[in-house]
Amino acid sequence: MIITVASGKGGTGKTTVAVNLALSLKTANLFDCDVEEPNAHTLLHPAAMHTSSVTVLTPQVNQEKCTLCGKCAEFCKFNAIFVGKTKTMVYNEMCHSCGGCALVCPEDAITEIPRPIGQIHKSTIENVNLLYGELSIGEPIATTLIQAVKNHIDPEAVNILDAPPGTACPVIETMRESDFIVLVTEPTPFGLHDLSMTVDVVRELKIPFGVIINRSGIGDEGVVDFCKQNRIPILMEIPYDRHIAELYSRGIPFVIEIPNWQKQFENLFVEIGRLVKNGL
Ligand code: SF4
Ligand code: SF4
Repeated sequence: MIITVASGKGGTGKTTVAVNLALSLKTANLFDCDVEEPNAHTLLHPAAMHTSSVTVLTPQVNQEKCTLCGKCAEFCKFNAIFVGKTKTMVYNEMCHSCGGCALVCPEDAITEIPRPIGQIHKSTIENVNLLYGELSIGEPIATTLIQAVKNHIDPEAVNILDAPPGTACPVIETMRESDFIVLVTEPTPFGLHDLSMTVDVVRELKIPFGVIINRSGIGDEGVVDFCKQNRIPILMEIPYDRHIAELYSRGIPFVIEIPNWQKQFENLFVEIGRLVKNGL
């Protein structure tokens, strides 16, 4: 089972939901796919980490062999390789590591070499196996690292994916292959605006989904009305509560301190299972 927790923008409580859900289950794998700003670990406080480097293959040009024929640059759809008057240059930050330039080079002047783009950190905290990616500063392509994180998904286990905020490529990369998507929003006009954009994306992916309203009580009925009109299940409402907010500010998941919430997240998981079984 793969459950992705997503939201149209940051700060809606997406990570809080993912962490509290993981902690409420007997055992779960939690993947923080927000590789540009991972923060699930700040709520779980892992004592020890196992860290490994993630590399991508990047072309390196042997200038002595290169005849400046231009075939590599002609092939590259990402303009990541430039053939000048005296030299051929590769722009690593634009390269998607497709390997095509090396294949088309008639002089065999291009070799692909591994280049580190980030790291993967692993740890186990009580019943949760946490794994998160951390993109190196200046690396613009997050999707490769997200794929590397997702390679650790165990199809036999419960896998909870904390998606990056927004609706761009990294979010879609995270959501792809999920069995269910939980969209976390706030009951405000801004929340509704972001939710409606995310719903459009999820519908394109044809994955069953439902909504969790966080900080319920602070805004208006717009999100509830939208969900009713579009027949989107509201899976849970987390009230705007001083105790929950205080725990969050101290980096403590609220299921640990407020035990009745653990039961509610267990019920949420059962409901997700039911919706997955019923399909879209
Ligand atoms: S590996 Fe692919 S993306 Fe990178 S420079 Fe070569 S052709 Fe372009
Ligand atoms: S295809 Fe090979 S020989 Fe031609 S410009 Fe590119 S690196 Fe040089």
